[in-house]
Amino acid sequence: MSAAPLAFELAAPTRIIFGAGCAREVGRLAAGLGKCALVVTGKSPDRAGAALAALATAGVQATTFSVAGEPSVETARAGVAAARTAACDLVIAFGGGSTIDAGKAIAALVANGGDPLDYLEVVGRGQQLTRRSLPFIAVPTTAGTGSEVTKNAVLGCSEHGHSGVKASLRSPLMLPTVAVVDPDLLVGLPAEAIAASGLDALSQLIEPFVCVRANPVTDGFAREGLARSASALRRAYTAARMGVIVAPADREALALASLLGGLSLANAGLGAVHGFAAPVGGIFHAPHGAVCAALLEPVMQLNVAALRARAPESPALVRYQEVAAIVTGNAAATIEDGLAWVAALCRALDIPGLARHGMRESDVAELVGKARVASSMKGNPIALTDAELADIATRALGGPA
Ligand SMILES: [Zn+2]
Repeated sequence: MSAAPLAFELAAPTRIIFGAGCAREVGRLAAGLGKCALVVTGKSPDRAGAALAALATAGVQATTFSVAGEPSVETARAGVAAARTAACDLVIAFGGGSTIDAGKAIAALVANGGDPLDYLEVVGRGQQLTRRSLPFIAVPTTAGTGSEVTKNAVLGCSEHGHSGVKASLRSPLMLPTVAVVDPDLLVGLPAEAIAASGLDALSQLIEPFVCVRANPVTDGFAREGLARSASALRRAYTAARMGVIVAPADREALALASLLGGLSLANAGLGAVHGFAAPVGGIFHAPHGAVCAALLEPVMQLNVAALRARAPESPALVRYQEVAAIVTGNAAATIEDGLAWVAALCRALDIPGLARHGMRESDVAELVGKARVASSMKGNPIALTDAELADIATRALGGPA
């Protein structure tokens, strides 16, 4: 690939436990880490019932804190207050990426003190966290964000004139203590959630694989995740649509793809899909996975065109061909075959354009301005011009062609 000497760093949770039924271990794991847990859940805490029962059996006290929708600075403050009131010495997040991000932020803030705005990037003071988070167990119940293995938490911020901005708390000290990835928790996930989170995972495998900081370890994660999720996602969506339980092998593939995507992005970086996803999600309050899904194919199109025009020797073009070969299962597939496969998948999964989330043509310029400076954009395989960024946003408005 590149002639430069190889150098990289790999960071991951202390333990990653994967397998059908492994969520039953949460009680035992928690008992080894603390006495009183703040259990962060999504909007329906009943889904965490089995986890709460396991904690009770293991003699760990639990206080639940429910997060409806994507977490904000206020969510994090309220969670820290709840953890302090109950004297929690451990945080467990049981839910989708929003829930895990909320738990991760709370665990960091309880240990470090201060307000989220002291540490938030971009909108806050950006101070470094200095203390390791409270012990934190992340149990994902969707297969998309990979947040169970990443070192950042995205929070929405609507104060100090930062209306509609999302920013990260980020530190290696925030890596979860244990990630418990149980594919059985995906049973009953609605079809739309399978589609959106699955395409987020796919983006989080493709972007690190073509990005400027790709390394041999994340490459291995990305290849494995792409190969496993390529056909499973369509089957899982179709099953959920028909009200049939997603097959165990497909649940396993989706959970693994999400985990591998998280490990890839945390150690290699992302690109323009996520560069746009942060401001789009902040302004229009659209679910992250659905936003990434709408952006994936336009970003691939424009990146490939820009690379061919300005950096035809870039290893990223070889990578895009490899993506095409893996997802289509045809070693001779062209980049165009890969693009067509992604577009067809988005159509099959009924992914709407960003217009469905309230975005208009008149929003393009503002989004381009924000996406250009987003931290994820630094990983994109080529610097895109404002015209190219505007082209991506405009194409994403209408959904897959
Ligand atoms: Zn994502």
